[in-house]
Amino acid sequence: MSQSRVVIVTGSTSGIGLGIARAFAARGDSVVLNGFGEPAAIAALVAELGAGGARVTHDPADMSKPAEIARLVHDAEARHGRIDVVVANAGIQHTARVEDFPPERWDAILAINLSAAFHLARAVLPGMQARGQGRIVNIASVHGLVASADKGAYVAAKHGLVGLTKVIALENAERGITCNAICPGWVRTPLVEKQIVARAERERLSMDEAQRALLAEKEPTLRFTAPEDIAEAVLFLCGPAGGNITGTTLALDGGWTAR
Ligand code: NAD
Repeated sequence: MSQSRVVIVTGSTSGIGLGIARAFAARGDSVVLNGFGEPAAIAALVAELGAGGARVTHDPADMSKPAEIARLVHDAEARHGRIDVVVANAGIQHTARVEDFPPERWDAILAINLSAAFHLARAVLPGMQARGQGRIVNIASVHGLVASADKGAYVAAKHGLVGLTKVIALENAERGITCNAICPGWVRTPLVEKQIVARAERERLSMDEAQRALLAEKEPTLRFTAPEDIAEAVLFLCGPAGGNITGTTLALDGGWTAR
């Protein structure tokens, strides 16, 4: 793999995706940011990540829209000539029991958390296959390995994403392309902040108490994983030592799936 790579990170205007994009940009890789946000805030991120000399752009493609995903990949290839790394990270959450789950939220979660990774891989694979190299990292979740109540759509999407990861790995095993899934436990991002607020309101707890309850229920280490730690794991999978790691899951989950 060449020194400076071309990297797409979906959902990288916030949280885990932003941490991953920062880490690639800090190495001098060319990074295509993606995700929603205020134009001024996004412009500030592009400037911040590019300050060290990395080529950083933002593409607003909506991951729920297959045509926009294809357009994103097409434009990135036209601009940079190739794509070396794709991190399918964009994701949303909604919690409710199955019988109460709004069908439109089910559709949105499946589209953004699962189908987008298929559309991305479908678009980038021909170029990677032609060059005989590439790295695809899908940001799944511990919920790609185990379940929790009230997360039917999310658990279904993330289990599906782990399955898709294995298939892409097998189909490309002899072509210099790896595909792996990262399975984080709790990471304190806006996606999880909403769940802490909901728990505090539901159980009449302070934010600190709700945070402790959330961790105690699932993570033996009682601590959040940082986006920077997830980014290091992605860099490892995309680096030389990751060359023969494919079709697997890497859990950064504080022991969640050990019990
Ligand atoms: P976040 O809410 O902080 O960030 C989500 C990002 O996705 C944002 O940049 C947002 O703009 C973007 N996004 C949302 N909908 C989009 C769409 N339709 N098209 C394009 N971009 C879109 O969330 P996060 O916690 O950083 O989550 C990132 C990924 O990590 C998700 O796939 C999530 O399921 C997964 N994950 C998160 C945790 C956690 O504890 N936070 C744990 C395990 C897995």
